[in-house]
Amino acid sequence: MRRLQLASVLLGAGLLVSLASCDKNALSEQDSTVMTADELSLVKAAGFNSLWAEKHQGGYLIEGDIYLTKTQLQDLASTPLTHNFIVGDEEHYRTNYIVSTPATGVRTITVRLTDGFPAYYSTGLDNALARYNTYTDLKINFLRVSTGGDIVVTAADLGTSGGGCILGRASGFPTSSGDPSSGFTLSNSSCATTYLNTVDKVDEVVAHEIGHCIGFRHTDYKRRNSCGPGAGESAGSIGAIHIPGTPTNVSGSYNSWMMACTNGSPLFNDDDVIALREVY
Ligand SMILES: [Zn+2]
Repeated sequence: MRRLQLASVLLGAGLLVSLASCDKNALSEQDSTVMTADELSLVKAAGFNSLWAEKHQGGYLIEGDIYLTKTQLQDLASTPLTHNFIVGDEEHYRTNYIVSTPATGVRTITVRLTDGFPAYYSTGLDNALARYNTYTDLKINFLRVSTGGDIVVTAADLGTSGGGCILGRASGFPTSSGDPSSGFTLSNSSCATTYLNTVDKVDEVVAHEIGHCIGFRHTDYKRRNSCGPGAGESAGSIGAIHIPGTPTNVSGSYNSWMMACTNGSPLFNDDDVIALREVY
């Protein structure tokens, strides 16, 4: 089984991953999910597949797992693309901004799970944080908190898209001031919790979304090979910088916690650890 989209294509369950914070107030129009010609042109100009886009909850669901507002699309369409270091299809990439860390010591990133989730989600989060914290040589670590939190995981019914169940929606990447993204939403709809029905699956999705929050892009962002045939993502203005030391030439099956579509395994592979250690 390939990765859950994070895996609308193969599993009928899409995890909606935003490229930047979602400002639902940026749009005031459209009730229909049908895209106008102008909107399709905008999607294309922003570097995405205009054949796989629809209106959704005040913004646009693009390529099954990217959620952007019109303002964000306009920004991407008007911003010169970041220089890419594309050699292979499955290198690891980070955004231009990452979480700032102290010269000495470790920065602790706090994470809170809000109410509204099945109990095993809590265990899944704990396991994800524990796996990151296994790598004690990193300049970051993670601490679960019950109030506040740098990264907040919220529950909401995200509904469906194109007949697929939306599993979640990231709220972006690190800020220009070096803070992690403020968190992400996981859907608590019945279709989402039916799919994310084990601790390991929750662990995997949480670890992946935290990866975005601290600046990792999809390992296969260029072509999204893990999701099967379809379009890739754009480097856009957030950047897609190759992480040195990660593979530029991969053959056969390949596994990474930041593949666009999941394979059901929550584990970091060796190259994931290289990427974590290189960035942090
Ligand atoms: Zn993702």
